[in-house]
Amino acid sequence: MLRVIVIVLGAVLALAAVGLFRVVPARVDAAMNVVQPHEPYEIAPGARDLHASLRVADLHSDMLLWMRDPEDWNGRGHTDLPRLRAGGVALQVFSSVTKSPSGQNYDSNTGDSDRITGLAIAQRWPVDSWTSLFARARYQARRLHRLEARSDGALVIARDRQQMEQALDARERNSELLITILATEGAHPLEGDLSKIDGLYDEGYRLIGLHHFFDNELGGSLHGLSNAGLTEFGREAVERMLARDMIIDLAHSSYAVVEEVLAMTDRPLIISHTGIYGHCQVRRNIPDRLMQAIAAEGGLIGVGFWGDVTCDDTPRGVAETIIAAVELVGVEHVALGSDFDGTVTTTFDGSEFAVLTQELLALGMSEADIRLVTGENAIRFFLENLPDASNG
Ligand SMILES: [Zn+2]
Repeated sequence: MLRVIVIVLGAVLALAAVGLFRVVPARVDAAMNVVQPHEPYEIAPGARDLHASLRVADLHSDMLLWMRDPEDWNGRGHTDLPRLRAGGVALQVFSSVTKSPSGQNYDSNTGDSDRITGLAIAQRWPVDSWTSLFARARYQARRLHRLEARSDGALVIARDRQQMEQALDARERNSELLITILATEGAHPLEGDLSKIDGLYDEGYRLIGLHHFFDNELGGSLHGLSNAGLTEFGREAVERMLARDMIIDLAHSSYAVVEEVLAMTDRPLIISHTGIYGHCQVRRNIPDRLMQAIAAEGGLIGVGFWGDVTCDDTPRGVAETIIAAVELVGVEHVALGSDFDGTVTTTFDGSEFAVLTQELLALGMSEADIRLVTGENAIRFFLENLPDASNG
């Protein structure tokens, strides 16, 4: 009898473990990264030919957070490598998410709670990542390192401009080649320790988002409690990042942080995923004058694909946001910043960028401008702003 009880108990525990470690993360992923069901988009020959000639670049995807096989075409979420290749993507920035408050919203959050801990455990991340934000960033970077190592040259992590130039060159002969750049969504993986900037650099991170949804050691989030500027630590951290030629992303930072970083440096800055306030007046979109100030210093604005920032997440609505961005900051400073797999809902996925090309054409944007905003601006930006290996 005891034996039977032990066997039954064991079976129940095993089923529970399978549930926790396989079913639950997949369900959470599918529920949080939604593509609105739709008939396949019909792309007219003109748009299809133009799209096939583009080098698409996207400034923000959180794919590395989720436990799906990036080498498979998945039935859930927004992206994986096959879908990005089908979408014509030449350059994808992958961002690591390391802490995210429960009840996350665009107005006011504390850093007291964290939903990533449960996800890290349920997705069987290394034990050190259960408690260390730095370990979470390192783990997500290493997922990309493994993909690079297994890719036989078809996935390259660009760590400096020379690598990026070589990869673009190689892509002329192999259109499947995907260039990637590592970014952080918030600099809290520093855990208050400046030397961890070097740690992130060594893991391949080149784009550092200072904030996510809560005020951190560096200063105020756009969605925190304080709306404060940079702390002393934040100021030192920004200086050290700039000294290492890391690029700073101010998406999710408070107005005050944006203004202070602008005042600290002439180096070009990024807002990787956003809408345009004058076009969609929500808290998540920073004031137009700050966008213009970033553009004036050579910066780049990545237009997101989800409804909270575009006020209309249809392909037409996203295209209209891109045009609003061009009108506000000039065509040279606009890029794509999908926020794919960033717990958002979109109307198209990573394999369907062509529908955006079609909508931009329909709205009267020139082919030359479409080329710039869908990829060439971002490619030029990283060629100019990634570390220069010849500087030693
Ligand atoms: Zn974000």
